[in-house]
Formats: sequence, C-alpha cells, structure tokens
Amino acid sequence: MTVLVTDDSLLARKSLIKVLRELEPDAEIIEAQNGLEAYEYYCKRSRDISLVFLDLTMPVMDGFEALEKIMAFDSQAKVVIVSADIQPKSQERVMGAGAKTVIPKPISSDKMRTLFLSGLV
Ligand SMILES: [Mg+2]
Repeated sequence: MTVLVTDDSLLARKSLIKVLRELEPDAEIIEAQNGLEAYEYYCKRSRDISLVFLDLTMPVMDGFEALEKIMAFDSQAKVVIVSADIQPKSQERVMGAGAKTVIPKPISSDKMRTLFLSGLV
C-alpha cells in the first residue's frame, strides 16, 4: 500500500510513520509538508495512494482546504485527519467534507491499530 503522510511538523510525520510501520512494514510512504503538497502528490499518484493522513494546521494550504480539494479530485479518497484541533466544529466540518475519521494527536500504536481494525480505511 502507498500512504501519504501530511504534516508541517517533521517530528509529527516521523512519529506517525513509526507507528504506521509497526502495522504496515512494507508500505510505501510519501511525505508532504503542507496541504498543497499533499494535494499535488495525490493528483499525481491517486491510483497508488490508498490512504492519506492529514494534519489540519499547516502553512501554505491547511488541512481543511486540502481535504476539500482531494475529495473533489477523487470522491473515493480515504483521508484520515490527525490533529490536535479536535473541536466539535472542526470535526463536523471535516467529516462533512468526507474525512473517514479524526484521530487526536499524538497518534499512538493503539490508535493506529484501532483505525486499521475499524474497517474505515
Ligand atoms: Mg500542523
């Protein structure tokens, strides 16, 4: 599987990738530093990318806009929001825009395992 990991924090990307690798050691991982990069990678590699992790607060293009653009490009896209911002309003907005689920930061092995077992992705 190919997974797109989007976060402006290098540390956040690395810790997400670490827990992802525990479950999917052979996954190809693409890293994006902001929403625009994520959208551009998704458009180029949409046939390969089976899962997108998306932070919300990022420079250049935030996760809200990136989510909307990715879903407009591919309504079947599987996008999981990973964010410290889990206000009900934000959650409602991203779920309404087509996100599969919202996971509060920091992502742990347990949360990742729960996600993969949930059948959502
Ligand atoms: Mg951020």
